[in-house]
Amino acid sequence: NTSLQEDHKPRILLMGLRRSGKSSIQKVVFHKMSPNETLFLESTNKIVKDDINNSSFVQFQIWDFPGQIDFFDPTFDSDTIFGGCGALVFVIDAQDDYQDALDKLQQTVTKAYRVNNNIKFEVFIHKVDGLNDDYKMESQRDIHHRANDDLAEAGLEHVHLSFHLTSIYDHSIFEAFSKVVQKLIPQLPTLENLLNILISNSGIEKAFLFDVVSKIYIATDSSPVDMQSYELCCDMIDVVIDISCIYGMVDETVEINTFNNQSSSLIKLNNGTVLYLREVNKFLALVCILREENFQKQGVIDYNFLCFRDAITQVFELRNKCQNALSIPRTR
Ligand code: GDP
Repeated sequence: NTSLQEDHKPRILLMGLRRSGKSSIQKVVFHKMSPNETLFLESTNKIVKDDINNSSFVQFQIWDFPGQIDFFDPTFDSDTIFGGCGALVFVIDAQDDYQDALDKLQQTVTKAYRVNNNIKFEVFIHKVDGLNDDYKMESQRDIHHRANDDLAEAGLEHVHLSFHLTSIYDHSIFEAFSKVVQKLIPQLPTLENLLNILISNSGIEKAFLFDVVSKIYIATDSSPVDMQSYELCCDMIDVVIDISCIYGMVDETVEINTFNNQSSSLIKLNNGTVLYLREVNKFLALVCILREENFQKQGVIDYNFLCFRDAITQVFELRNKCQNALSIPRTR
């Protein structure tokens, strides 16, 4: 049973057939497990509610369901489970025959939509690391087509499914989760706007606002994201965390103890690019990519950053005040 307090938090459900990769995704994205270690994970056979709110800025929960859950079982309380859920991520193993998974997807969407028509449906076409590019595109097209046909058959052609090609062996899983989470952040346009203002006034090329623990970016400026820049920024976060875990001051009261709003880091690459990281608060960090010559005016950048940080703080203070109004999903 969810307590009243938990009902206020946007919730992400992770579902899919057994062995599709749900536990691995959860461990890799939210618990820093290395992809190879997931080979030894026990298969999920109960509902696991993983509350990552304590260490992560993004307040959401992952409910990991066993693949073979039966919606018609009276003990399955779909009102509670789908009622307060913001996004439903359905994982399909693309390396396997996916007919069964598609059947289950149709049942799941039908059931969930009936309970809560505000849910965002996200399909992860997963384990694509094992597929060549042609086959990857072909399966995406095929799954897209068949899933939408199935929905039309069930009279739900107006329900929108978003598709993402994912793998835990590269950054695609983080990218996909970033997109999923961003849809659940009501202040996203404001954050993007603030990032646009920051970069245009500071000679920055690209800026990401990261949830440090999960390496999900909760917002970026409106220039296109290229995977390489995102990967560079993720790697930078890993480096900074590692270094601060070794040399940082330990404060027992917070989980990511070596991280605070004074932290910053600078990495110069040998192609004339600078990566600059600044802490926004104990969960969020801003990571920027810029040309080395533009970094000579570091004072301007730092000043603009402080204005940016103030603005972000205000945005989220407002969020806390109106949280009740904003994040209780309406249910039928
Ligand atoms: P669950 O039953 O849905 O929780 O599935 P698991 O997380 O236990 O994963 C089943 C198997 O799939 C494990 O052996 C994982 O190592 C493997 N796996 C998960 N994600 C990926 C991926 O992106 N690529 C590949 N190649 N294997 C994966």
